[in-house]
Amino acid sequence: MSTSIAIIGAGIAGLSCASALSAAGHHVVVFDKARGPGGRLCTCRGDDWQADHGAQYFTARHALFQREVARWVESGVVAPWQLTPAVLGSERNPLPEAPVRYVGVPGMSALGKALASGLDVRTGYTIQQPVRQADGWRLSSAEHGALDAVYNQIVVAVPAPQAAALLAQAAPALSTMAAAQNMEPCWTVIAQLAEPAQFGFDAAFVNGGPLRWIARNNSKPGRSGQECWVLQASEQWSAQHIEHDAADVTEALFTAFRQLGGPTAVAVRTHRWRYANCVADQIGSVWDASLGMGLCGDWLQGGRVEGAWLSGRHLAHQMLERRLA
Ligand code: FAD
Repeated sequence: MSTSIAIIGAGIAGLSCASALSAAGHHVVVFDKARGPGGRLCTCRGDDWQADHGAQYFTARHALFQREVARWVESGVVAPWQLTPAVLGSERNPLPEAPVRYVGVPGMSALGKALASGLDVRTGYTIQQPVRQADGWRLSSAEHGALDAVYNQIVVAVPAPQAAALLAQAAPALSTMAAAQNMEPCWTVIAQLAEPAQFGFDAAFVNGGPLRWIARNNSKPGRSGQECWVLQASEQWSAQHIEHDAADVTEALFTAFRQLGGPTAVAVRTHRWRYANCVADQIGSVWDASLGMGLCGDWLQGGRVEGAWLSGRHLAHQMLERRLA
């Protein structure tokens, strides 16, 4: 029998769960508060420039995810990023291990768009605390008020602190579990440079100072436009400066980039991620059949893009009572 399922969050976890449930014949609607799908897999654009300001790349270690990534590569929505990496500021200067690093093409956001196509994904819906009534789950959104449909089951596929807030009334035990998960922030600067940087590498892990990662966005496949670098602050620095003014943060991070030898910028944009990455459990997902509620996301399966996708698949299989294989 077809079940009506609402998924809150159109990041990789929510979309992975949605596609498996939809393929099994269920009626699935995915809601997201953002303007487009993909969540932290995102790309910002302007006149003659673009840059991935969330996830920089992803790797594939689990066989199930490797098979899925191979399909994405085959369809052209993802490609390996053949970069020259470096490690800066370390005394031993170890080169990072070199797994294949994949990126969305022509931007990271392309993957979310591709996964959403063919699904009923409604963007611009900030879902508020769900309410369970005798006939099922009822939702409301900040933009549209109470929604008409009633859902047999709901899936919450948002970062742990946001899940904790959403579930405070409807599922206090799950809310407490989500609240216990720590997620790390990340201040990010996108810099359009006046001239190409002459570093001799495309991306570097930085040890010491406010920066943790710098990358030449144009070195990724399918990118065009002006030379753009993504500068990410370390988790510790981001946490210490999380409430600081964006202008001060931009100044500190760009000064550190200049001290590494980077050229001047013609324009910069700064983004504060309150919930960027996590040191996550390997639970997979949570399914409470008595409530008709599931949780998935990177924070339940080791973090990162791969973990998010696997978590969404894991939850769908729990709901369908199938083994993940
Ligand atoms: P999300 O992508 O966060 O999706 C959750 C969705 O829920 C969002 O679209 C959000 O808008 C929506 N939402 C939240 N609340 C509501 C609500 N109330 N109503 C409706 N919608 C809601 N991973 C890697 O593998 N490699 C990397 O190099 C890497 N670098 C990163 C760098 C940065 C700066 C950041 C931010 C992340 C990085 N990550 C990286 C992590 C990776 O992006 C995430 O692990 C993964 O994208 C998480 O997917 P998700 O579906 O679990 O969550």
